[in-house]
Amino acid sequence: MYLKRIALTAITCIAMLLGGFSRLQAEEIDAGRNTGLPNLGDSTSITPAAERRLGDRIARELYRDPDYLDDAVIGDYVQSIWLPLMTAARARGELPPELDAQYAWKVLLGRDRSVNAFALPGAYFGVHLGLVGVVSSKDELAAVLAHELSHVTQRHIARLITRQNEQTPWLIGAMILGAMAASKNPGGANAVIVGGQAVAAQTQLNFSRDMEREADRVGFGIAGEAGFAPQGFVSMFEKLQQSNRLNDAGGFPYLRSHPLSTERMADMQARIPSQAAATHPAPAGEHALIAARARVLSNPSVDALRHWVQEAEPAQLARQPAAQQAGALYAATLAASRLRSFDQAEAVGRRLRSAAGADALVARQVRLLLAEIALARGKAALALVDLGPQGPNRSRAELFLAVQAQLALGHADGASQSLQTWVADNPADAQAWQWLARSAAAQGRTVASIRAEAEVNIAQLDYAAALARLKAAQDMARNDPKAGDHFEASIVDTRARQVEQLLREQALER
Ligand SMILES: [Zn+2]
Repeated sequence: MYLKRIALTAITCIAMLLGGFSRLQAEEIDAGRNTGLPNLGDSTSITPAAERRLGDRIARELYRDPDYLDDAVIGDYVQSIWLPLMTAARARGELPPELDAQYAWKVLLGRDRSVNAFALPGAYFGVHLGLVGVVSSKDELAAVLAHELSHVTQRHIARLITRQNEQTPWLIGAMILGAMAASKNPGGANAVIVGGQAVAAQTQLNFSRDMEREADRVGFGIAGEAGFAPQGFVSMFEKLQQSNRLNDAGGFPYLRSHPLSTERMADMQARIPSQAAATHPAPAGEHALIAARARVLSNPSVDALRHWVQEAEPAQLARQPAAQQAGALYAATLAASRLRSFDQAEAVGRRLRSAAGADALVARQVRLLLAEIALARGKAALALVDLGPQGPNRSRAELFLAVQAQLALGHADGASQSLQTWVADNPADAQAWQWLARSAAAQGRTVASIRAEAEVNIAQLDYAAALARLKAAQDMARNDPKAGDHFEASIVDTRARQVEQLLREQALER
């Protein structure tokens, strides 16, 4: 069936629909490179600015996708891999300043259970919780991210999008989104994909094998430079290959876009000795908890949650290797809380706390989870105790938990203050603006609250919705002097003008 055949991940999709090259032609291009014949050079590829606009267009839709998930705990963990990779790419000269400045370099998490990660135009990256839940170390996750990062630094996507396509970004964006929807739900995506069906049917192009090898090679260097163990590349490949044999039900779309060859695996294996002495595998403790969280959050069904709770029953738990027991206890604690069995969640949480041991990163994850559960059952003061003293370097997850506790305790001023400081440094943090909107509303600062909601829209690239909110804030500032002060009102006016400008630029692209 046609849709099944193109039930691909985004990478494949981007490739498939762009340029009008058939797979056959792609192989010819590969061959051309080897024989010195003309190939897809930068002179024909899309400009970075146009690629970024295309990426923004796609990202705007992803932010609206019900599967998009901004979980601060997993997000912080992914950032703790991502930022060192970016630094390493710069240090190795793999990240040209022009791309560094023009592209988004943003990782978006998806609730999807399938094992997948992908790169999109303009350096947006998607990571499914299914992938986070299945990798067994930070090094393995770093290997996948470094590979995807390298597809972008090497401008592989740009090379697949010719200048000719630059004229029709709306079509390309629609096609990529349609194909992504098809990959998630092969049976139900007809409506989304129908507009571009004819184009999709006659064009199919993947990253070439040369591009895959290059992303392996460059990614391997970047991950090593960033301090991740090179073994992560090999064990990731092994895991994917093994899973592919065991699981033919489509749970591993990563394999469809990144076919494994023995050659690729051997290539990585051969690279190991040069780096192995310098780096040691990251301790698995924290990773086990994060992977457990990803598995629970990727499937909120009652049956799945009950399953995680049962896995931590003492008889069940004893059968698992010691290294996996903390993960099982974490999953059970979170799952019991999601089932609103709070007494059970606290009981398992106590077992988790005593199993956590001396590892500071593990202990921190346990504190965050206990605070989250205390908040869920309405014990905000206890949540603050679980969080512990908050230093200036607290993480995003810690900030959001503390803010929720403060709001529940009626301390909106304190919450607003810490959030203002945060968004000053992180102006595109949609979730921070969301909490700021609530804090300002609780303080009775209506204009500031509506403006913060507009900032959520701006951060998620929905300028039309942002403008509607900013206009409402302007009306309110004019008609109700108590709703906001002069300072607030002037910020709203400035932001409204900026958003109008962004909308005009967007209109020109169509
Ligand atoms: Zn790849």
